[in-house]
Amino acid sequence: MAADPLIELRDVNKYYGDLHVLRDVDLAVGRGEVVAVIGPSGSGKSTLCRTINRLETIQSGRIMLDGRPLPEEGRALARLRAEVGMVFQSFNLFAHKTVLQNVSLAQVKVRRRGREQADRRSLELLDRVGLSAHAGRFPAQLSGGQQQRVAIARALAMEPKALLFDEPTSALDPEMINEVLDVMRQLARDGMTMVVVTHEMGFARSAAHRVAFMADGRIVEDRAPEEFFTAPRSGRARDFLASVL
Ligand code: ADP
Ligand code: MG
Repeated sequence: MAADPLIELRDVNKYYGDLHVLRDVDLAVGRGEVVAVIGPSGSGKSTLCRTINRLETIQSGRIMLDGRPLPEEGRALARLRAEVGMVFQSFNLFAHKTVLQNVSLAQVKVRRRGREQADRRSLELLDRVGLSAHAGRFPAQLSGGQQQRVAIARALAMEPKALLFDEPTSALDPEMINEVLDVMRQLARDGMTMVVVTHEMGFARSAAHRVAFMADGRIVEDRAPEEFFTAPRSGRARDFLASVL
């Protein structure tokens, strides 16, 4: 585990009513580290992601970002949401705004940038995800893969310390999956700290530094991908891998 982690969860427990969805979860993510979170449906992967930028509260344990507990409310919480960006399965773009406006909006509202400065930054980021030629289009005029790349550019526009991805390619047609994974691979090479919930085992194996395997709300294995994929220790992981590989 990283000595000075950017993101650290210690002994985290989360319930939905009587349902115990995160059980004694410990996870540390170092700066520049990419952790792939994998596991069966319902094992708590999305909930884990959502607790890290406090879209969900926890009942016990601690979550630290950059050595400080997550803020609970107010401006500090809004800042946290900007510092820990999230990319969802459904791209969540504003349908009635152009690509450029989608990427610029929060820069103006949250980061308090001027419109021109925000647009300039947006165009740089759209270029980075290969979409600067589409800045004036509306989301419905783009493919799913392109929309997801806009969502990534929008998250990057907040200058996040870390990015959380919750199954970013699960809603995409197969031929579009790689264009999104390629952008994520490039972010990883550029040193972005990332937590990626994914069913793309090839990505987890080749791009992640660690795999956290979840089952029934627990992180059952947390290891280097090569070790995890070649010699899973737990029966749960062996069963899971047999079902997806
Ligand atoms: P995963 O992302 O691994 O599929 P989730 O984190 O979405 O798992 O869900 C973990 C468990 O919590 C599941 O049993 C799910 O049905 C339940 N759950 C998720 N969100 C809610 C919610 N808002 N209210 C009640 N139960 C929920
Ligand atoms: Mg999920």
